[in-house]
This record gives sequence, structure tokens and C-alpha cells, in this order.
Amino acid sequence: MRNQAGTLIERKPAYTQLIEFYEKIYTEQERSKKGLILPPFQLQQSGREKEFREGFPLLNRMAIPIDVSSSETLFRTLCEISKEVNEKLQKDITGIEQAIKKEAFDIGDLIRQNSDAVYIETLAIKHGLDQPVLMFLMHMSILPSLSVFVDQIRDSMDTKNWLRGYCPVCGSLPRISALRGKGQRFFLCTFCSFEWQSERLKCPFCENSDHQTLHYLYTDGDEICRVELCEKCKKYIKTIDTRKLSYEPDLHLEDIATIHLDILASEKGFSRPAFSPWGIK
Ligand SMILES: [Zn+2]
Ligand SMILES: [Zn+2]
Repeated sequence: MRNQAGTLIERKPAYTQLIEFYEKIYTEQERSKKGLILPPFQLQQSGREKEFREGFPLLNRMAIPIDVSSSETLFRTLCEISKEVNEKLQKDITGIEQAIKKEAFDIGDLIRQNSDAVYIETLAIKHGLDQPVLMFLMHMSILPSLSVFVDQIRDSMDTKNWLRGYCPVCGSLPRISALRGKGQRFFLCTFCSFEWQSERLKCPFCENSDHQTLHYLYTDGDEICRVELCEKCKKYIKTIDTRKLSYEPDLHLEDIATIHLDILASEKGFSRPAFSPWGIK
């Protein structure tokens, strides 16, 4: 992580503050991972092979075990860290903290309802809270539990024939993709952080594989990250060519350090289906 952050700051000094912010979050997440208490999870794939082959993911998001108490502690720590980033975040987070203090909502409830978009939206509207910031804090707080879970099941998951545009574990959309080895393409799940292999030239969102309507977008001098645009559904995904990097990247951080490409794609009329907490200004 240090190596990656240092290299990225050198290559993209404009991102220094954001990268340093992410580093702090990452450090707290790693600390949080060490003390997690998660119920044992029995992977019950037997009897479900047919469904899995037909494209049903292993489970739904709510079935992934989360250490609520540890996530709550992390949520509070991330509030402190985030408040120091800029005035906008400071204002938004102060609003969230005040709402918690007034018992307008409970962090534990928010964490337990992590995949209930209606609950989160209603909460934000009712108490005048910034929804993306609330989502960001919540997701970053449960990520240690999610990634420990994914680490536990990774070896017993056979996903080489999955090749779909959504996560084989939880069914969520990909955040970003990565090229590795001989050019195989992998997607990173927006929610649980599982990585799965997919087809090289195919839009994950509408399954379009017609190369006439799939385009790439680069910025000058940077061939490491490109945007893959689909003319058919007007959506895009960024792809990191990890073979061109001197380090093994944390894809979340690569996503952050390429926000200019999200802006470029959006200006061209393409949308990003996966939630981007890093879009926050
Ligand atoms: Zn997933
Ligand atoms: Zn498409």
C-alpha cells in the first residue's frame, strides 16, 4: 500500500490529499480486521450448483456476516478522519454526528441495514444528511468484515466459468476491472470486494460484445488506466492494466486516483452504474 500510494502521488500529485486520506482509512480498516468477531460461515454450495451455473450468485448481500460492534467503532473513527479532509466533509459529518447524538438514528441499525437502499435514502432525507457520505462511511466500516469473509470462501469458490457482469458471491455490479497475467480481465465487486474473471471484450452491464459499439478512452500519457465505454447502454467501467505497474495494486486506490476519467466519461454522456463514494468533492 505504501509503495502504491507513494508511486501514485509521484505520478499524480493532484491526488495527494485524496490518496493520503484513503491511506488513513485503509490503515484503520486493517486495524479493525484484527479484532473482528464473525460467526463461522458454512459455504453451502452443494445442491446449488445448478442455480450457480444458471447465474444465481452464491448469496445475497444481507447474508454476509458483519461484525456490527467493530464496524460501529470504525464508523466513528472514520468520521474523525474524514472531518479533517475538507470543509464539505466536515459539515456533512458534523450533521451525521449530531443526528446520532440526538438519537435520530443508530449506527448499528445503519450497519445492519447496509443493503437496504430505501432505508438509507429515507434516513438521509428525513434528517437532512448527505446520502453519498453516509453510504461511504457505512460501506468503508463494513468492508473489513466483507473482505475477511471473502478471504474465507475464495478458495472454495469455483468461478472460472462464471464470466458474468455481476459478482458470483453477492450479485453486485463491478466497481472497476483489472488486466492481469496474459491479459485476462477481472472485475472487483462494488460491495464485497470479491474479484472474478470475466470476458475481455464485453460490457458487464448489458453484455454487449460488439466491438463496433465498445470503445476505449485514455488520457494522454497514461496507458495504465482506460475507460471502456459501451455505446449500447451508455455505461462505462475503468480498467487498470496491472501488468504495467511495478506493484500489486489495491484497486480501490487505483479507482480513487483516476477520478478524472470518471469526469471525462460523464462529460461524454456515459454513466457509472457502480456507486462511487469517491465522487465526493
Ligand atoms: Zn460481491
Ligand atoms: Zn453496455
